[in-house]
Formats: sequence, structure tokens, C-alpha cells
Amino acid sequence: MYATKVSERVYMLDTYALGQPGTVGAYLVKGPKPALVDCGYATSYESVLKGLAEAGVMPSEVRYLIPTHVHLDHAGAAGRLIREMPNAEVIAQERGVPHLIDPTRLIESSTKVFGEMIMGLYGSPEPIPAERITPVGKEAHLDLGAGLSMTMIHSPGHAPHQISIVLDQTKAMLTADAVGIVYPGMKALFPTTPPPSFNPTELIATIASIRQTKPTELLVPHFGVRNDVDWVFDRTIELVQQWVEQVKTLWKGKMSLDEASEIMEREVVRDAGTEDLPIYAKVSVRTSVMGIMHYLDKNF
Ligand SMILES: [Zn+2]
Repeated sequence: MYATKVSERVYMLDTYALGQPGTVGAYLVKGPKPALVDCGYATSYESVLKGLAEAGVMPSEVRYLIPTHVHLDHAGAAGRLIREMPNAEVIAQERGVPHLIDPTRLIESSTKVFGEMIMGLYGSPEPIPAERITPVGKEAHLDLGAGLSMTMIHSPGHAPHQISIVLDQTKAMLTADAVGIVYPGMKALFPTTPPPSFNPTELIATIASIRQTKPTELLVPHFGVRNDVDWVFDRTIELVQQWVEQVKTLWKGKMSLDEASEIMEREVVRDAGTEDLPIYAKVSVRTSVMGIMHYLDKNF
């Protein structure tokens, strides 16, 4: 199953990242002007098309394609998808727009983070013509027809070019990666703090600001719908602070990325009460540790 109806107007699309269900999601808001929020890795674009079909939306009907930020698991397939979506306008935070138009630097830095092999599996994003992109700044409203609308809020911290989105009528919030990773079937949440621009102060300020919209539920890209809104926000803040402190100690002790990642993996395993972590969770933990170390290198 590629699409799951999660409320009257909203479908969660599973992009089956690297063939794996329940890891990278996108959300479709199905009003008179359908909006697709996030779209997975470049290599996931066919899953997104299948999800749209299951939700009863033709690619040509999509009016807005909104990557919450330019990371490959959110915007990777955008360039490929808009070729199938002649009526879609891409909306993105202004700081991310240059990377959508010319993904060269993004591909370079992602290759540095993930390595050639994993990058091959994720796929490289295609450039998006500038005339198809509308940049948004601190806050923007979007009318989706029939009294349906959304508010896009700049949400830096995980990345400077990130937005979260509130559906104005239901107060459901598409969090992007402002909150931690909570895979289905895994009890633990863990922070998503990747290089090159993770900033804990901004991330915590973002949570305070998006919280003011009083969301009723969270539509989380990694992964699924959460009704325990306060817990997700509180736990994200707590763990971001805790991980930065823990990794700082390891970093001061000149520990390697691999060793530090193993230690943080064990933390997640203990918290989740499981035996081991699936490979995609290990990659996410490692990326978060790398992001914190990069932040420490730059600031301390
Ligand atoms: Zn992500």
C-alpha cells in the first residue's frame, strides 16, 4: 500500500525509501488544488506516483509540490516528478531555492555525508526550472480551494531552509524534520541533527514557535501520524539537548564518528527496548552524530 488516508483531506504516502516501508513519508492534502508535501528520494519517484494514484489524484492535477526542505529524502524526487506534473508550482523556503535550481553543491555535500554507494541508492535530484519555483520566507499562506488552506512556517535548526506546515482548518501539522525520528514499531524517538547546518538553539526555538499554533496532531515524515503532540515536542527538545551534551563529551575525547555512533546506537536500542536497530535507523543515528560533531567543530 502506497497511500493511507489519515484524515478527511490528508493522505500519507509511503515512498518506500530503498524499498523499505515506514521510513520516509510524504503527505498529500487533497483539496480542489491538491498539494503534495515532500516527495522522497530521487529513486522513490515511482512510489510517489503510485501513492498519488491510490489517493485518486492524477499527477497533472497536483497544483503544489512543497518540499519541506531540500534534503534528499524530502526533495530528491521533486525535479523528476514535476516533469509529470505540468500544473504544479514548487514552493520552497527561499534559502533552499538555489539548491533546487542547481543541486550540484547539494549532491556534493550529500556524497560527502553518505558516501558514493548510499548516494547511488538515494539517487541524485534533477534541477528544477527557476520559473516553476515560488520562494517563501518567514511565513506564508496557501489557499487550496473550498475553504482549505495551509500556513507555512520557517523552521530552521534541522536545516536553515526548512518549513513546517499547519493545515488551518484542522490544525494538523506537517512537522518536517523539526521533530525527531519515530519509526513505526520502534518505541524510541531519536533526534535528527544532520550536517552541514544543524543548530540546536534554532531547533529548540523552532519547536517553541511551531508549538504556539497548538497542533492537534503531527504528520511526521519519519514516520506517521502522532497524536501525542506534547510528548513528541518535549522528547525532541530533551534528546537534542542530551545528544549534544553526550556527543560533546565523546568529541572532546577525540572519539571517531564510528565509535561515537555505536555508543549512540546503543542508547537508542536501550530506549527502544529492542535487540538491535534496522540498518536505516543506524544510518540515521550516524548522520545525527555526524551533524552534532560538525556543529561542535564549527562552534567550539
Ligand atoms: Zn528527513
